[in-house]
Amino acid sequence: MKLMFLGAPGAGKGTQAEVVSERYNIPAISTGALLREAMANGTELGMKAKSYIDGGALVPDDVVIGIIKERLVADDCKNGFILDGFPRTVAQAKALDEMDIKMDGVVSIEVEDDAIIRRLGGRRLCGKCGSSYHVDYKPTAVAGVCDKCGGELITRADDKPEVIKSRLDVYHEQTEPLKDFYAAKGVLKPVIGQEKIEDTTALTIAAIESIRG
Ligand code: AMP
Repeated sequence: MKLMFLGAPGAGKGTQAEVVSERYNIPAISTGALLREAMANGTELGMKAKSYIDGGALVPDDVVIGIIKERLVADDCKNGFILDGFPRTVAQAKALDEMDIKMDGVVSIEVEDDAIIRRLGGRRLCGKCGSSYHVDYKPTAVAGVCDKCGGELITRADDKPEVIKSRLDVYHEQTEPLKDFYAAKGVLKPVIGQEKIEDTTALTIAAIESIRG
């Protein structure tokens, strides 16, 4: 099964992708996570991406298309995968078409902008293993400490209030048109993002089960 999550930054794509990945035993592939890993490792790719990411802009299409091409040929993608945060532009979606990759379902998590702004402000990330948390919606057992590895929690540079607005603008201008793109292919499954993570999960699973028939 090939699935994709669409939605504004902070809509819950990554969180839901993690749950769906475990449930259906297919890898969740996040271009954002791959780029952050490259930045943490100080690779050429990471250094190239940093200024775009920290400023809330999109990394150029050719760079992310290259990353995704390389990742999708890995063995663990044979039985399917979940794309989280790719594509973000129509050009990226067309690149998937050119690779002959046909999505079975595109789950679009719908969350209003004002809720996104509240959510992103409380989002935290483990500086060591990359696990994601939220001070209200997904708190750690011990404040500021990762449940999984004991690492210190940090706020992503691009979750700072001044950057959030640009990321939302970018989403509306460049990524939201993908809803029409996939609706025209008959694979779009809108899910209304709920306050509680598990409620969104229930709707997401129902949408995926409707695809599986
Ligand atoms: P995310 O973790 O999905 O919120 O991504 C964090 C940042 O990485 C985004 O704000 C972009 O700067 C960059 N990024 C991730 N995925 C893409 C993509 N498909 N196209 C362009 N930039 C991306």
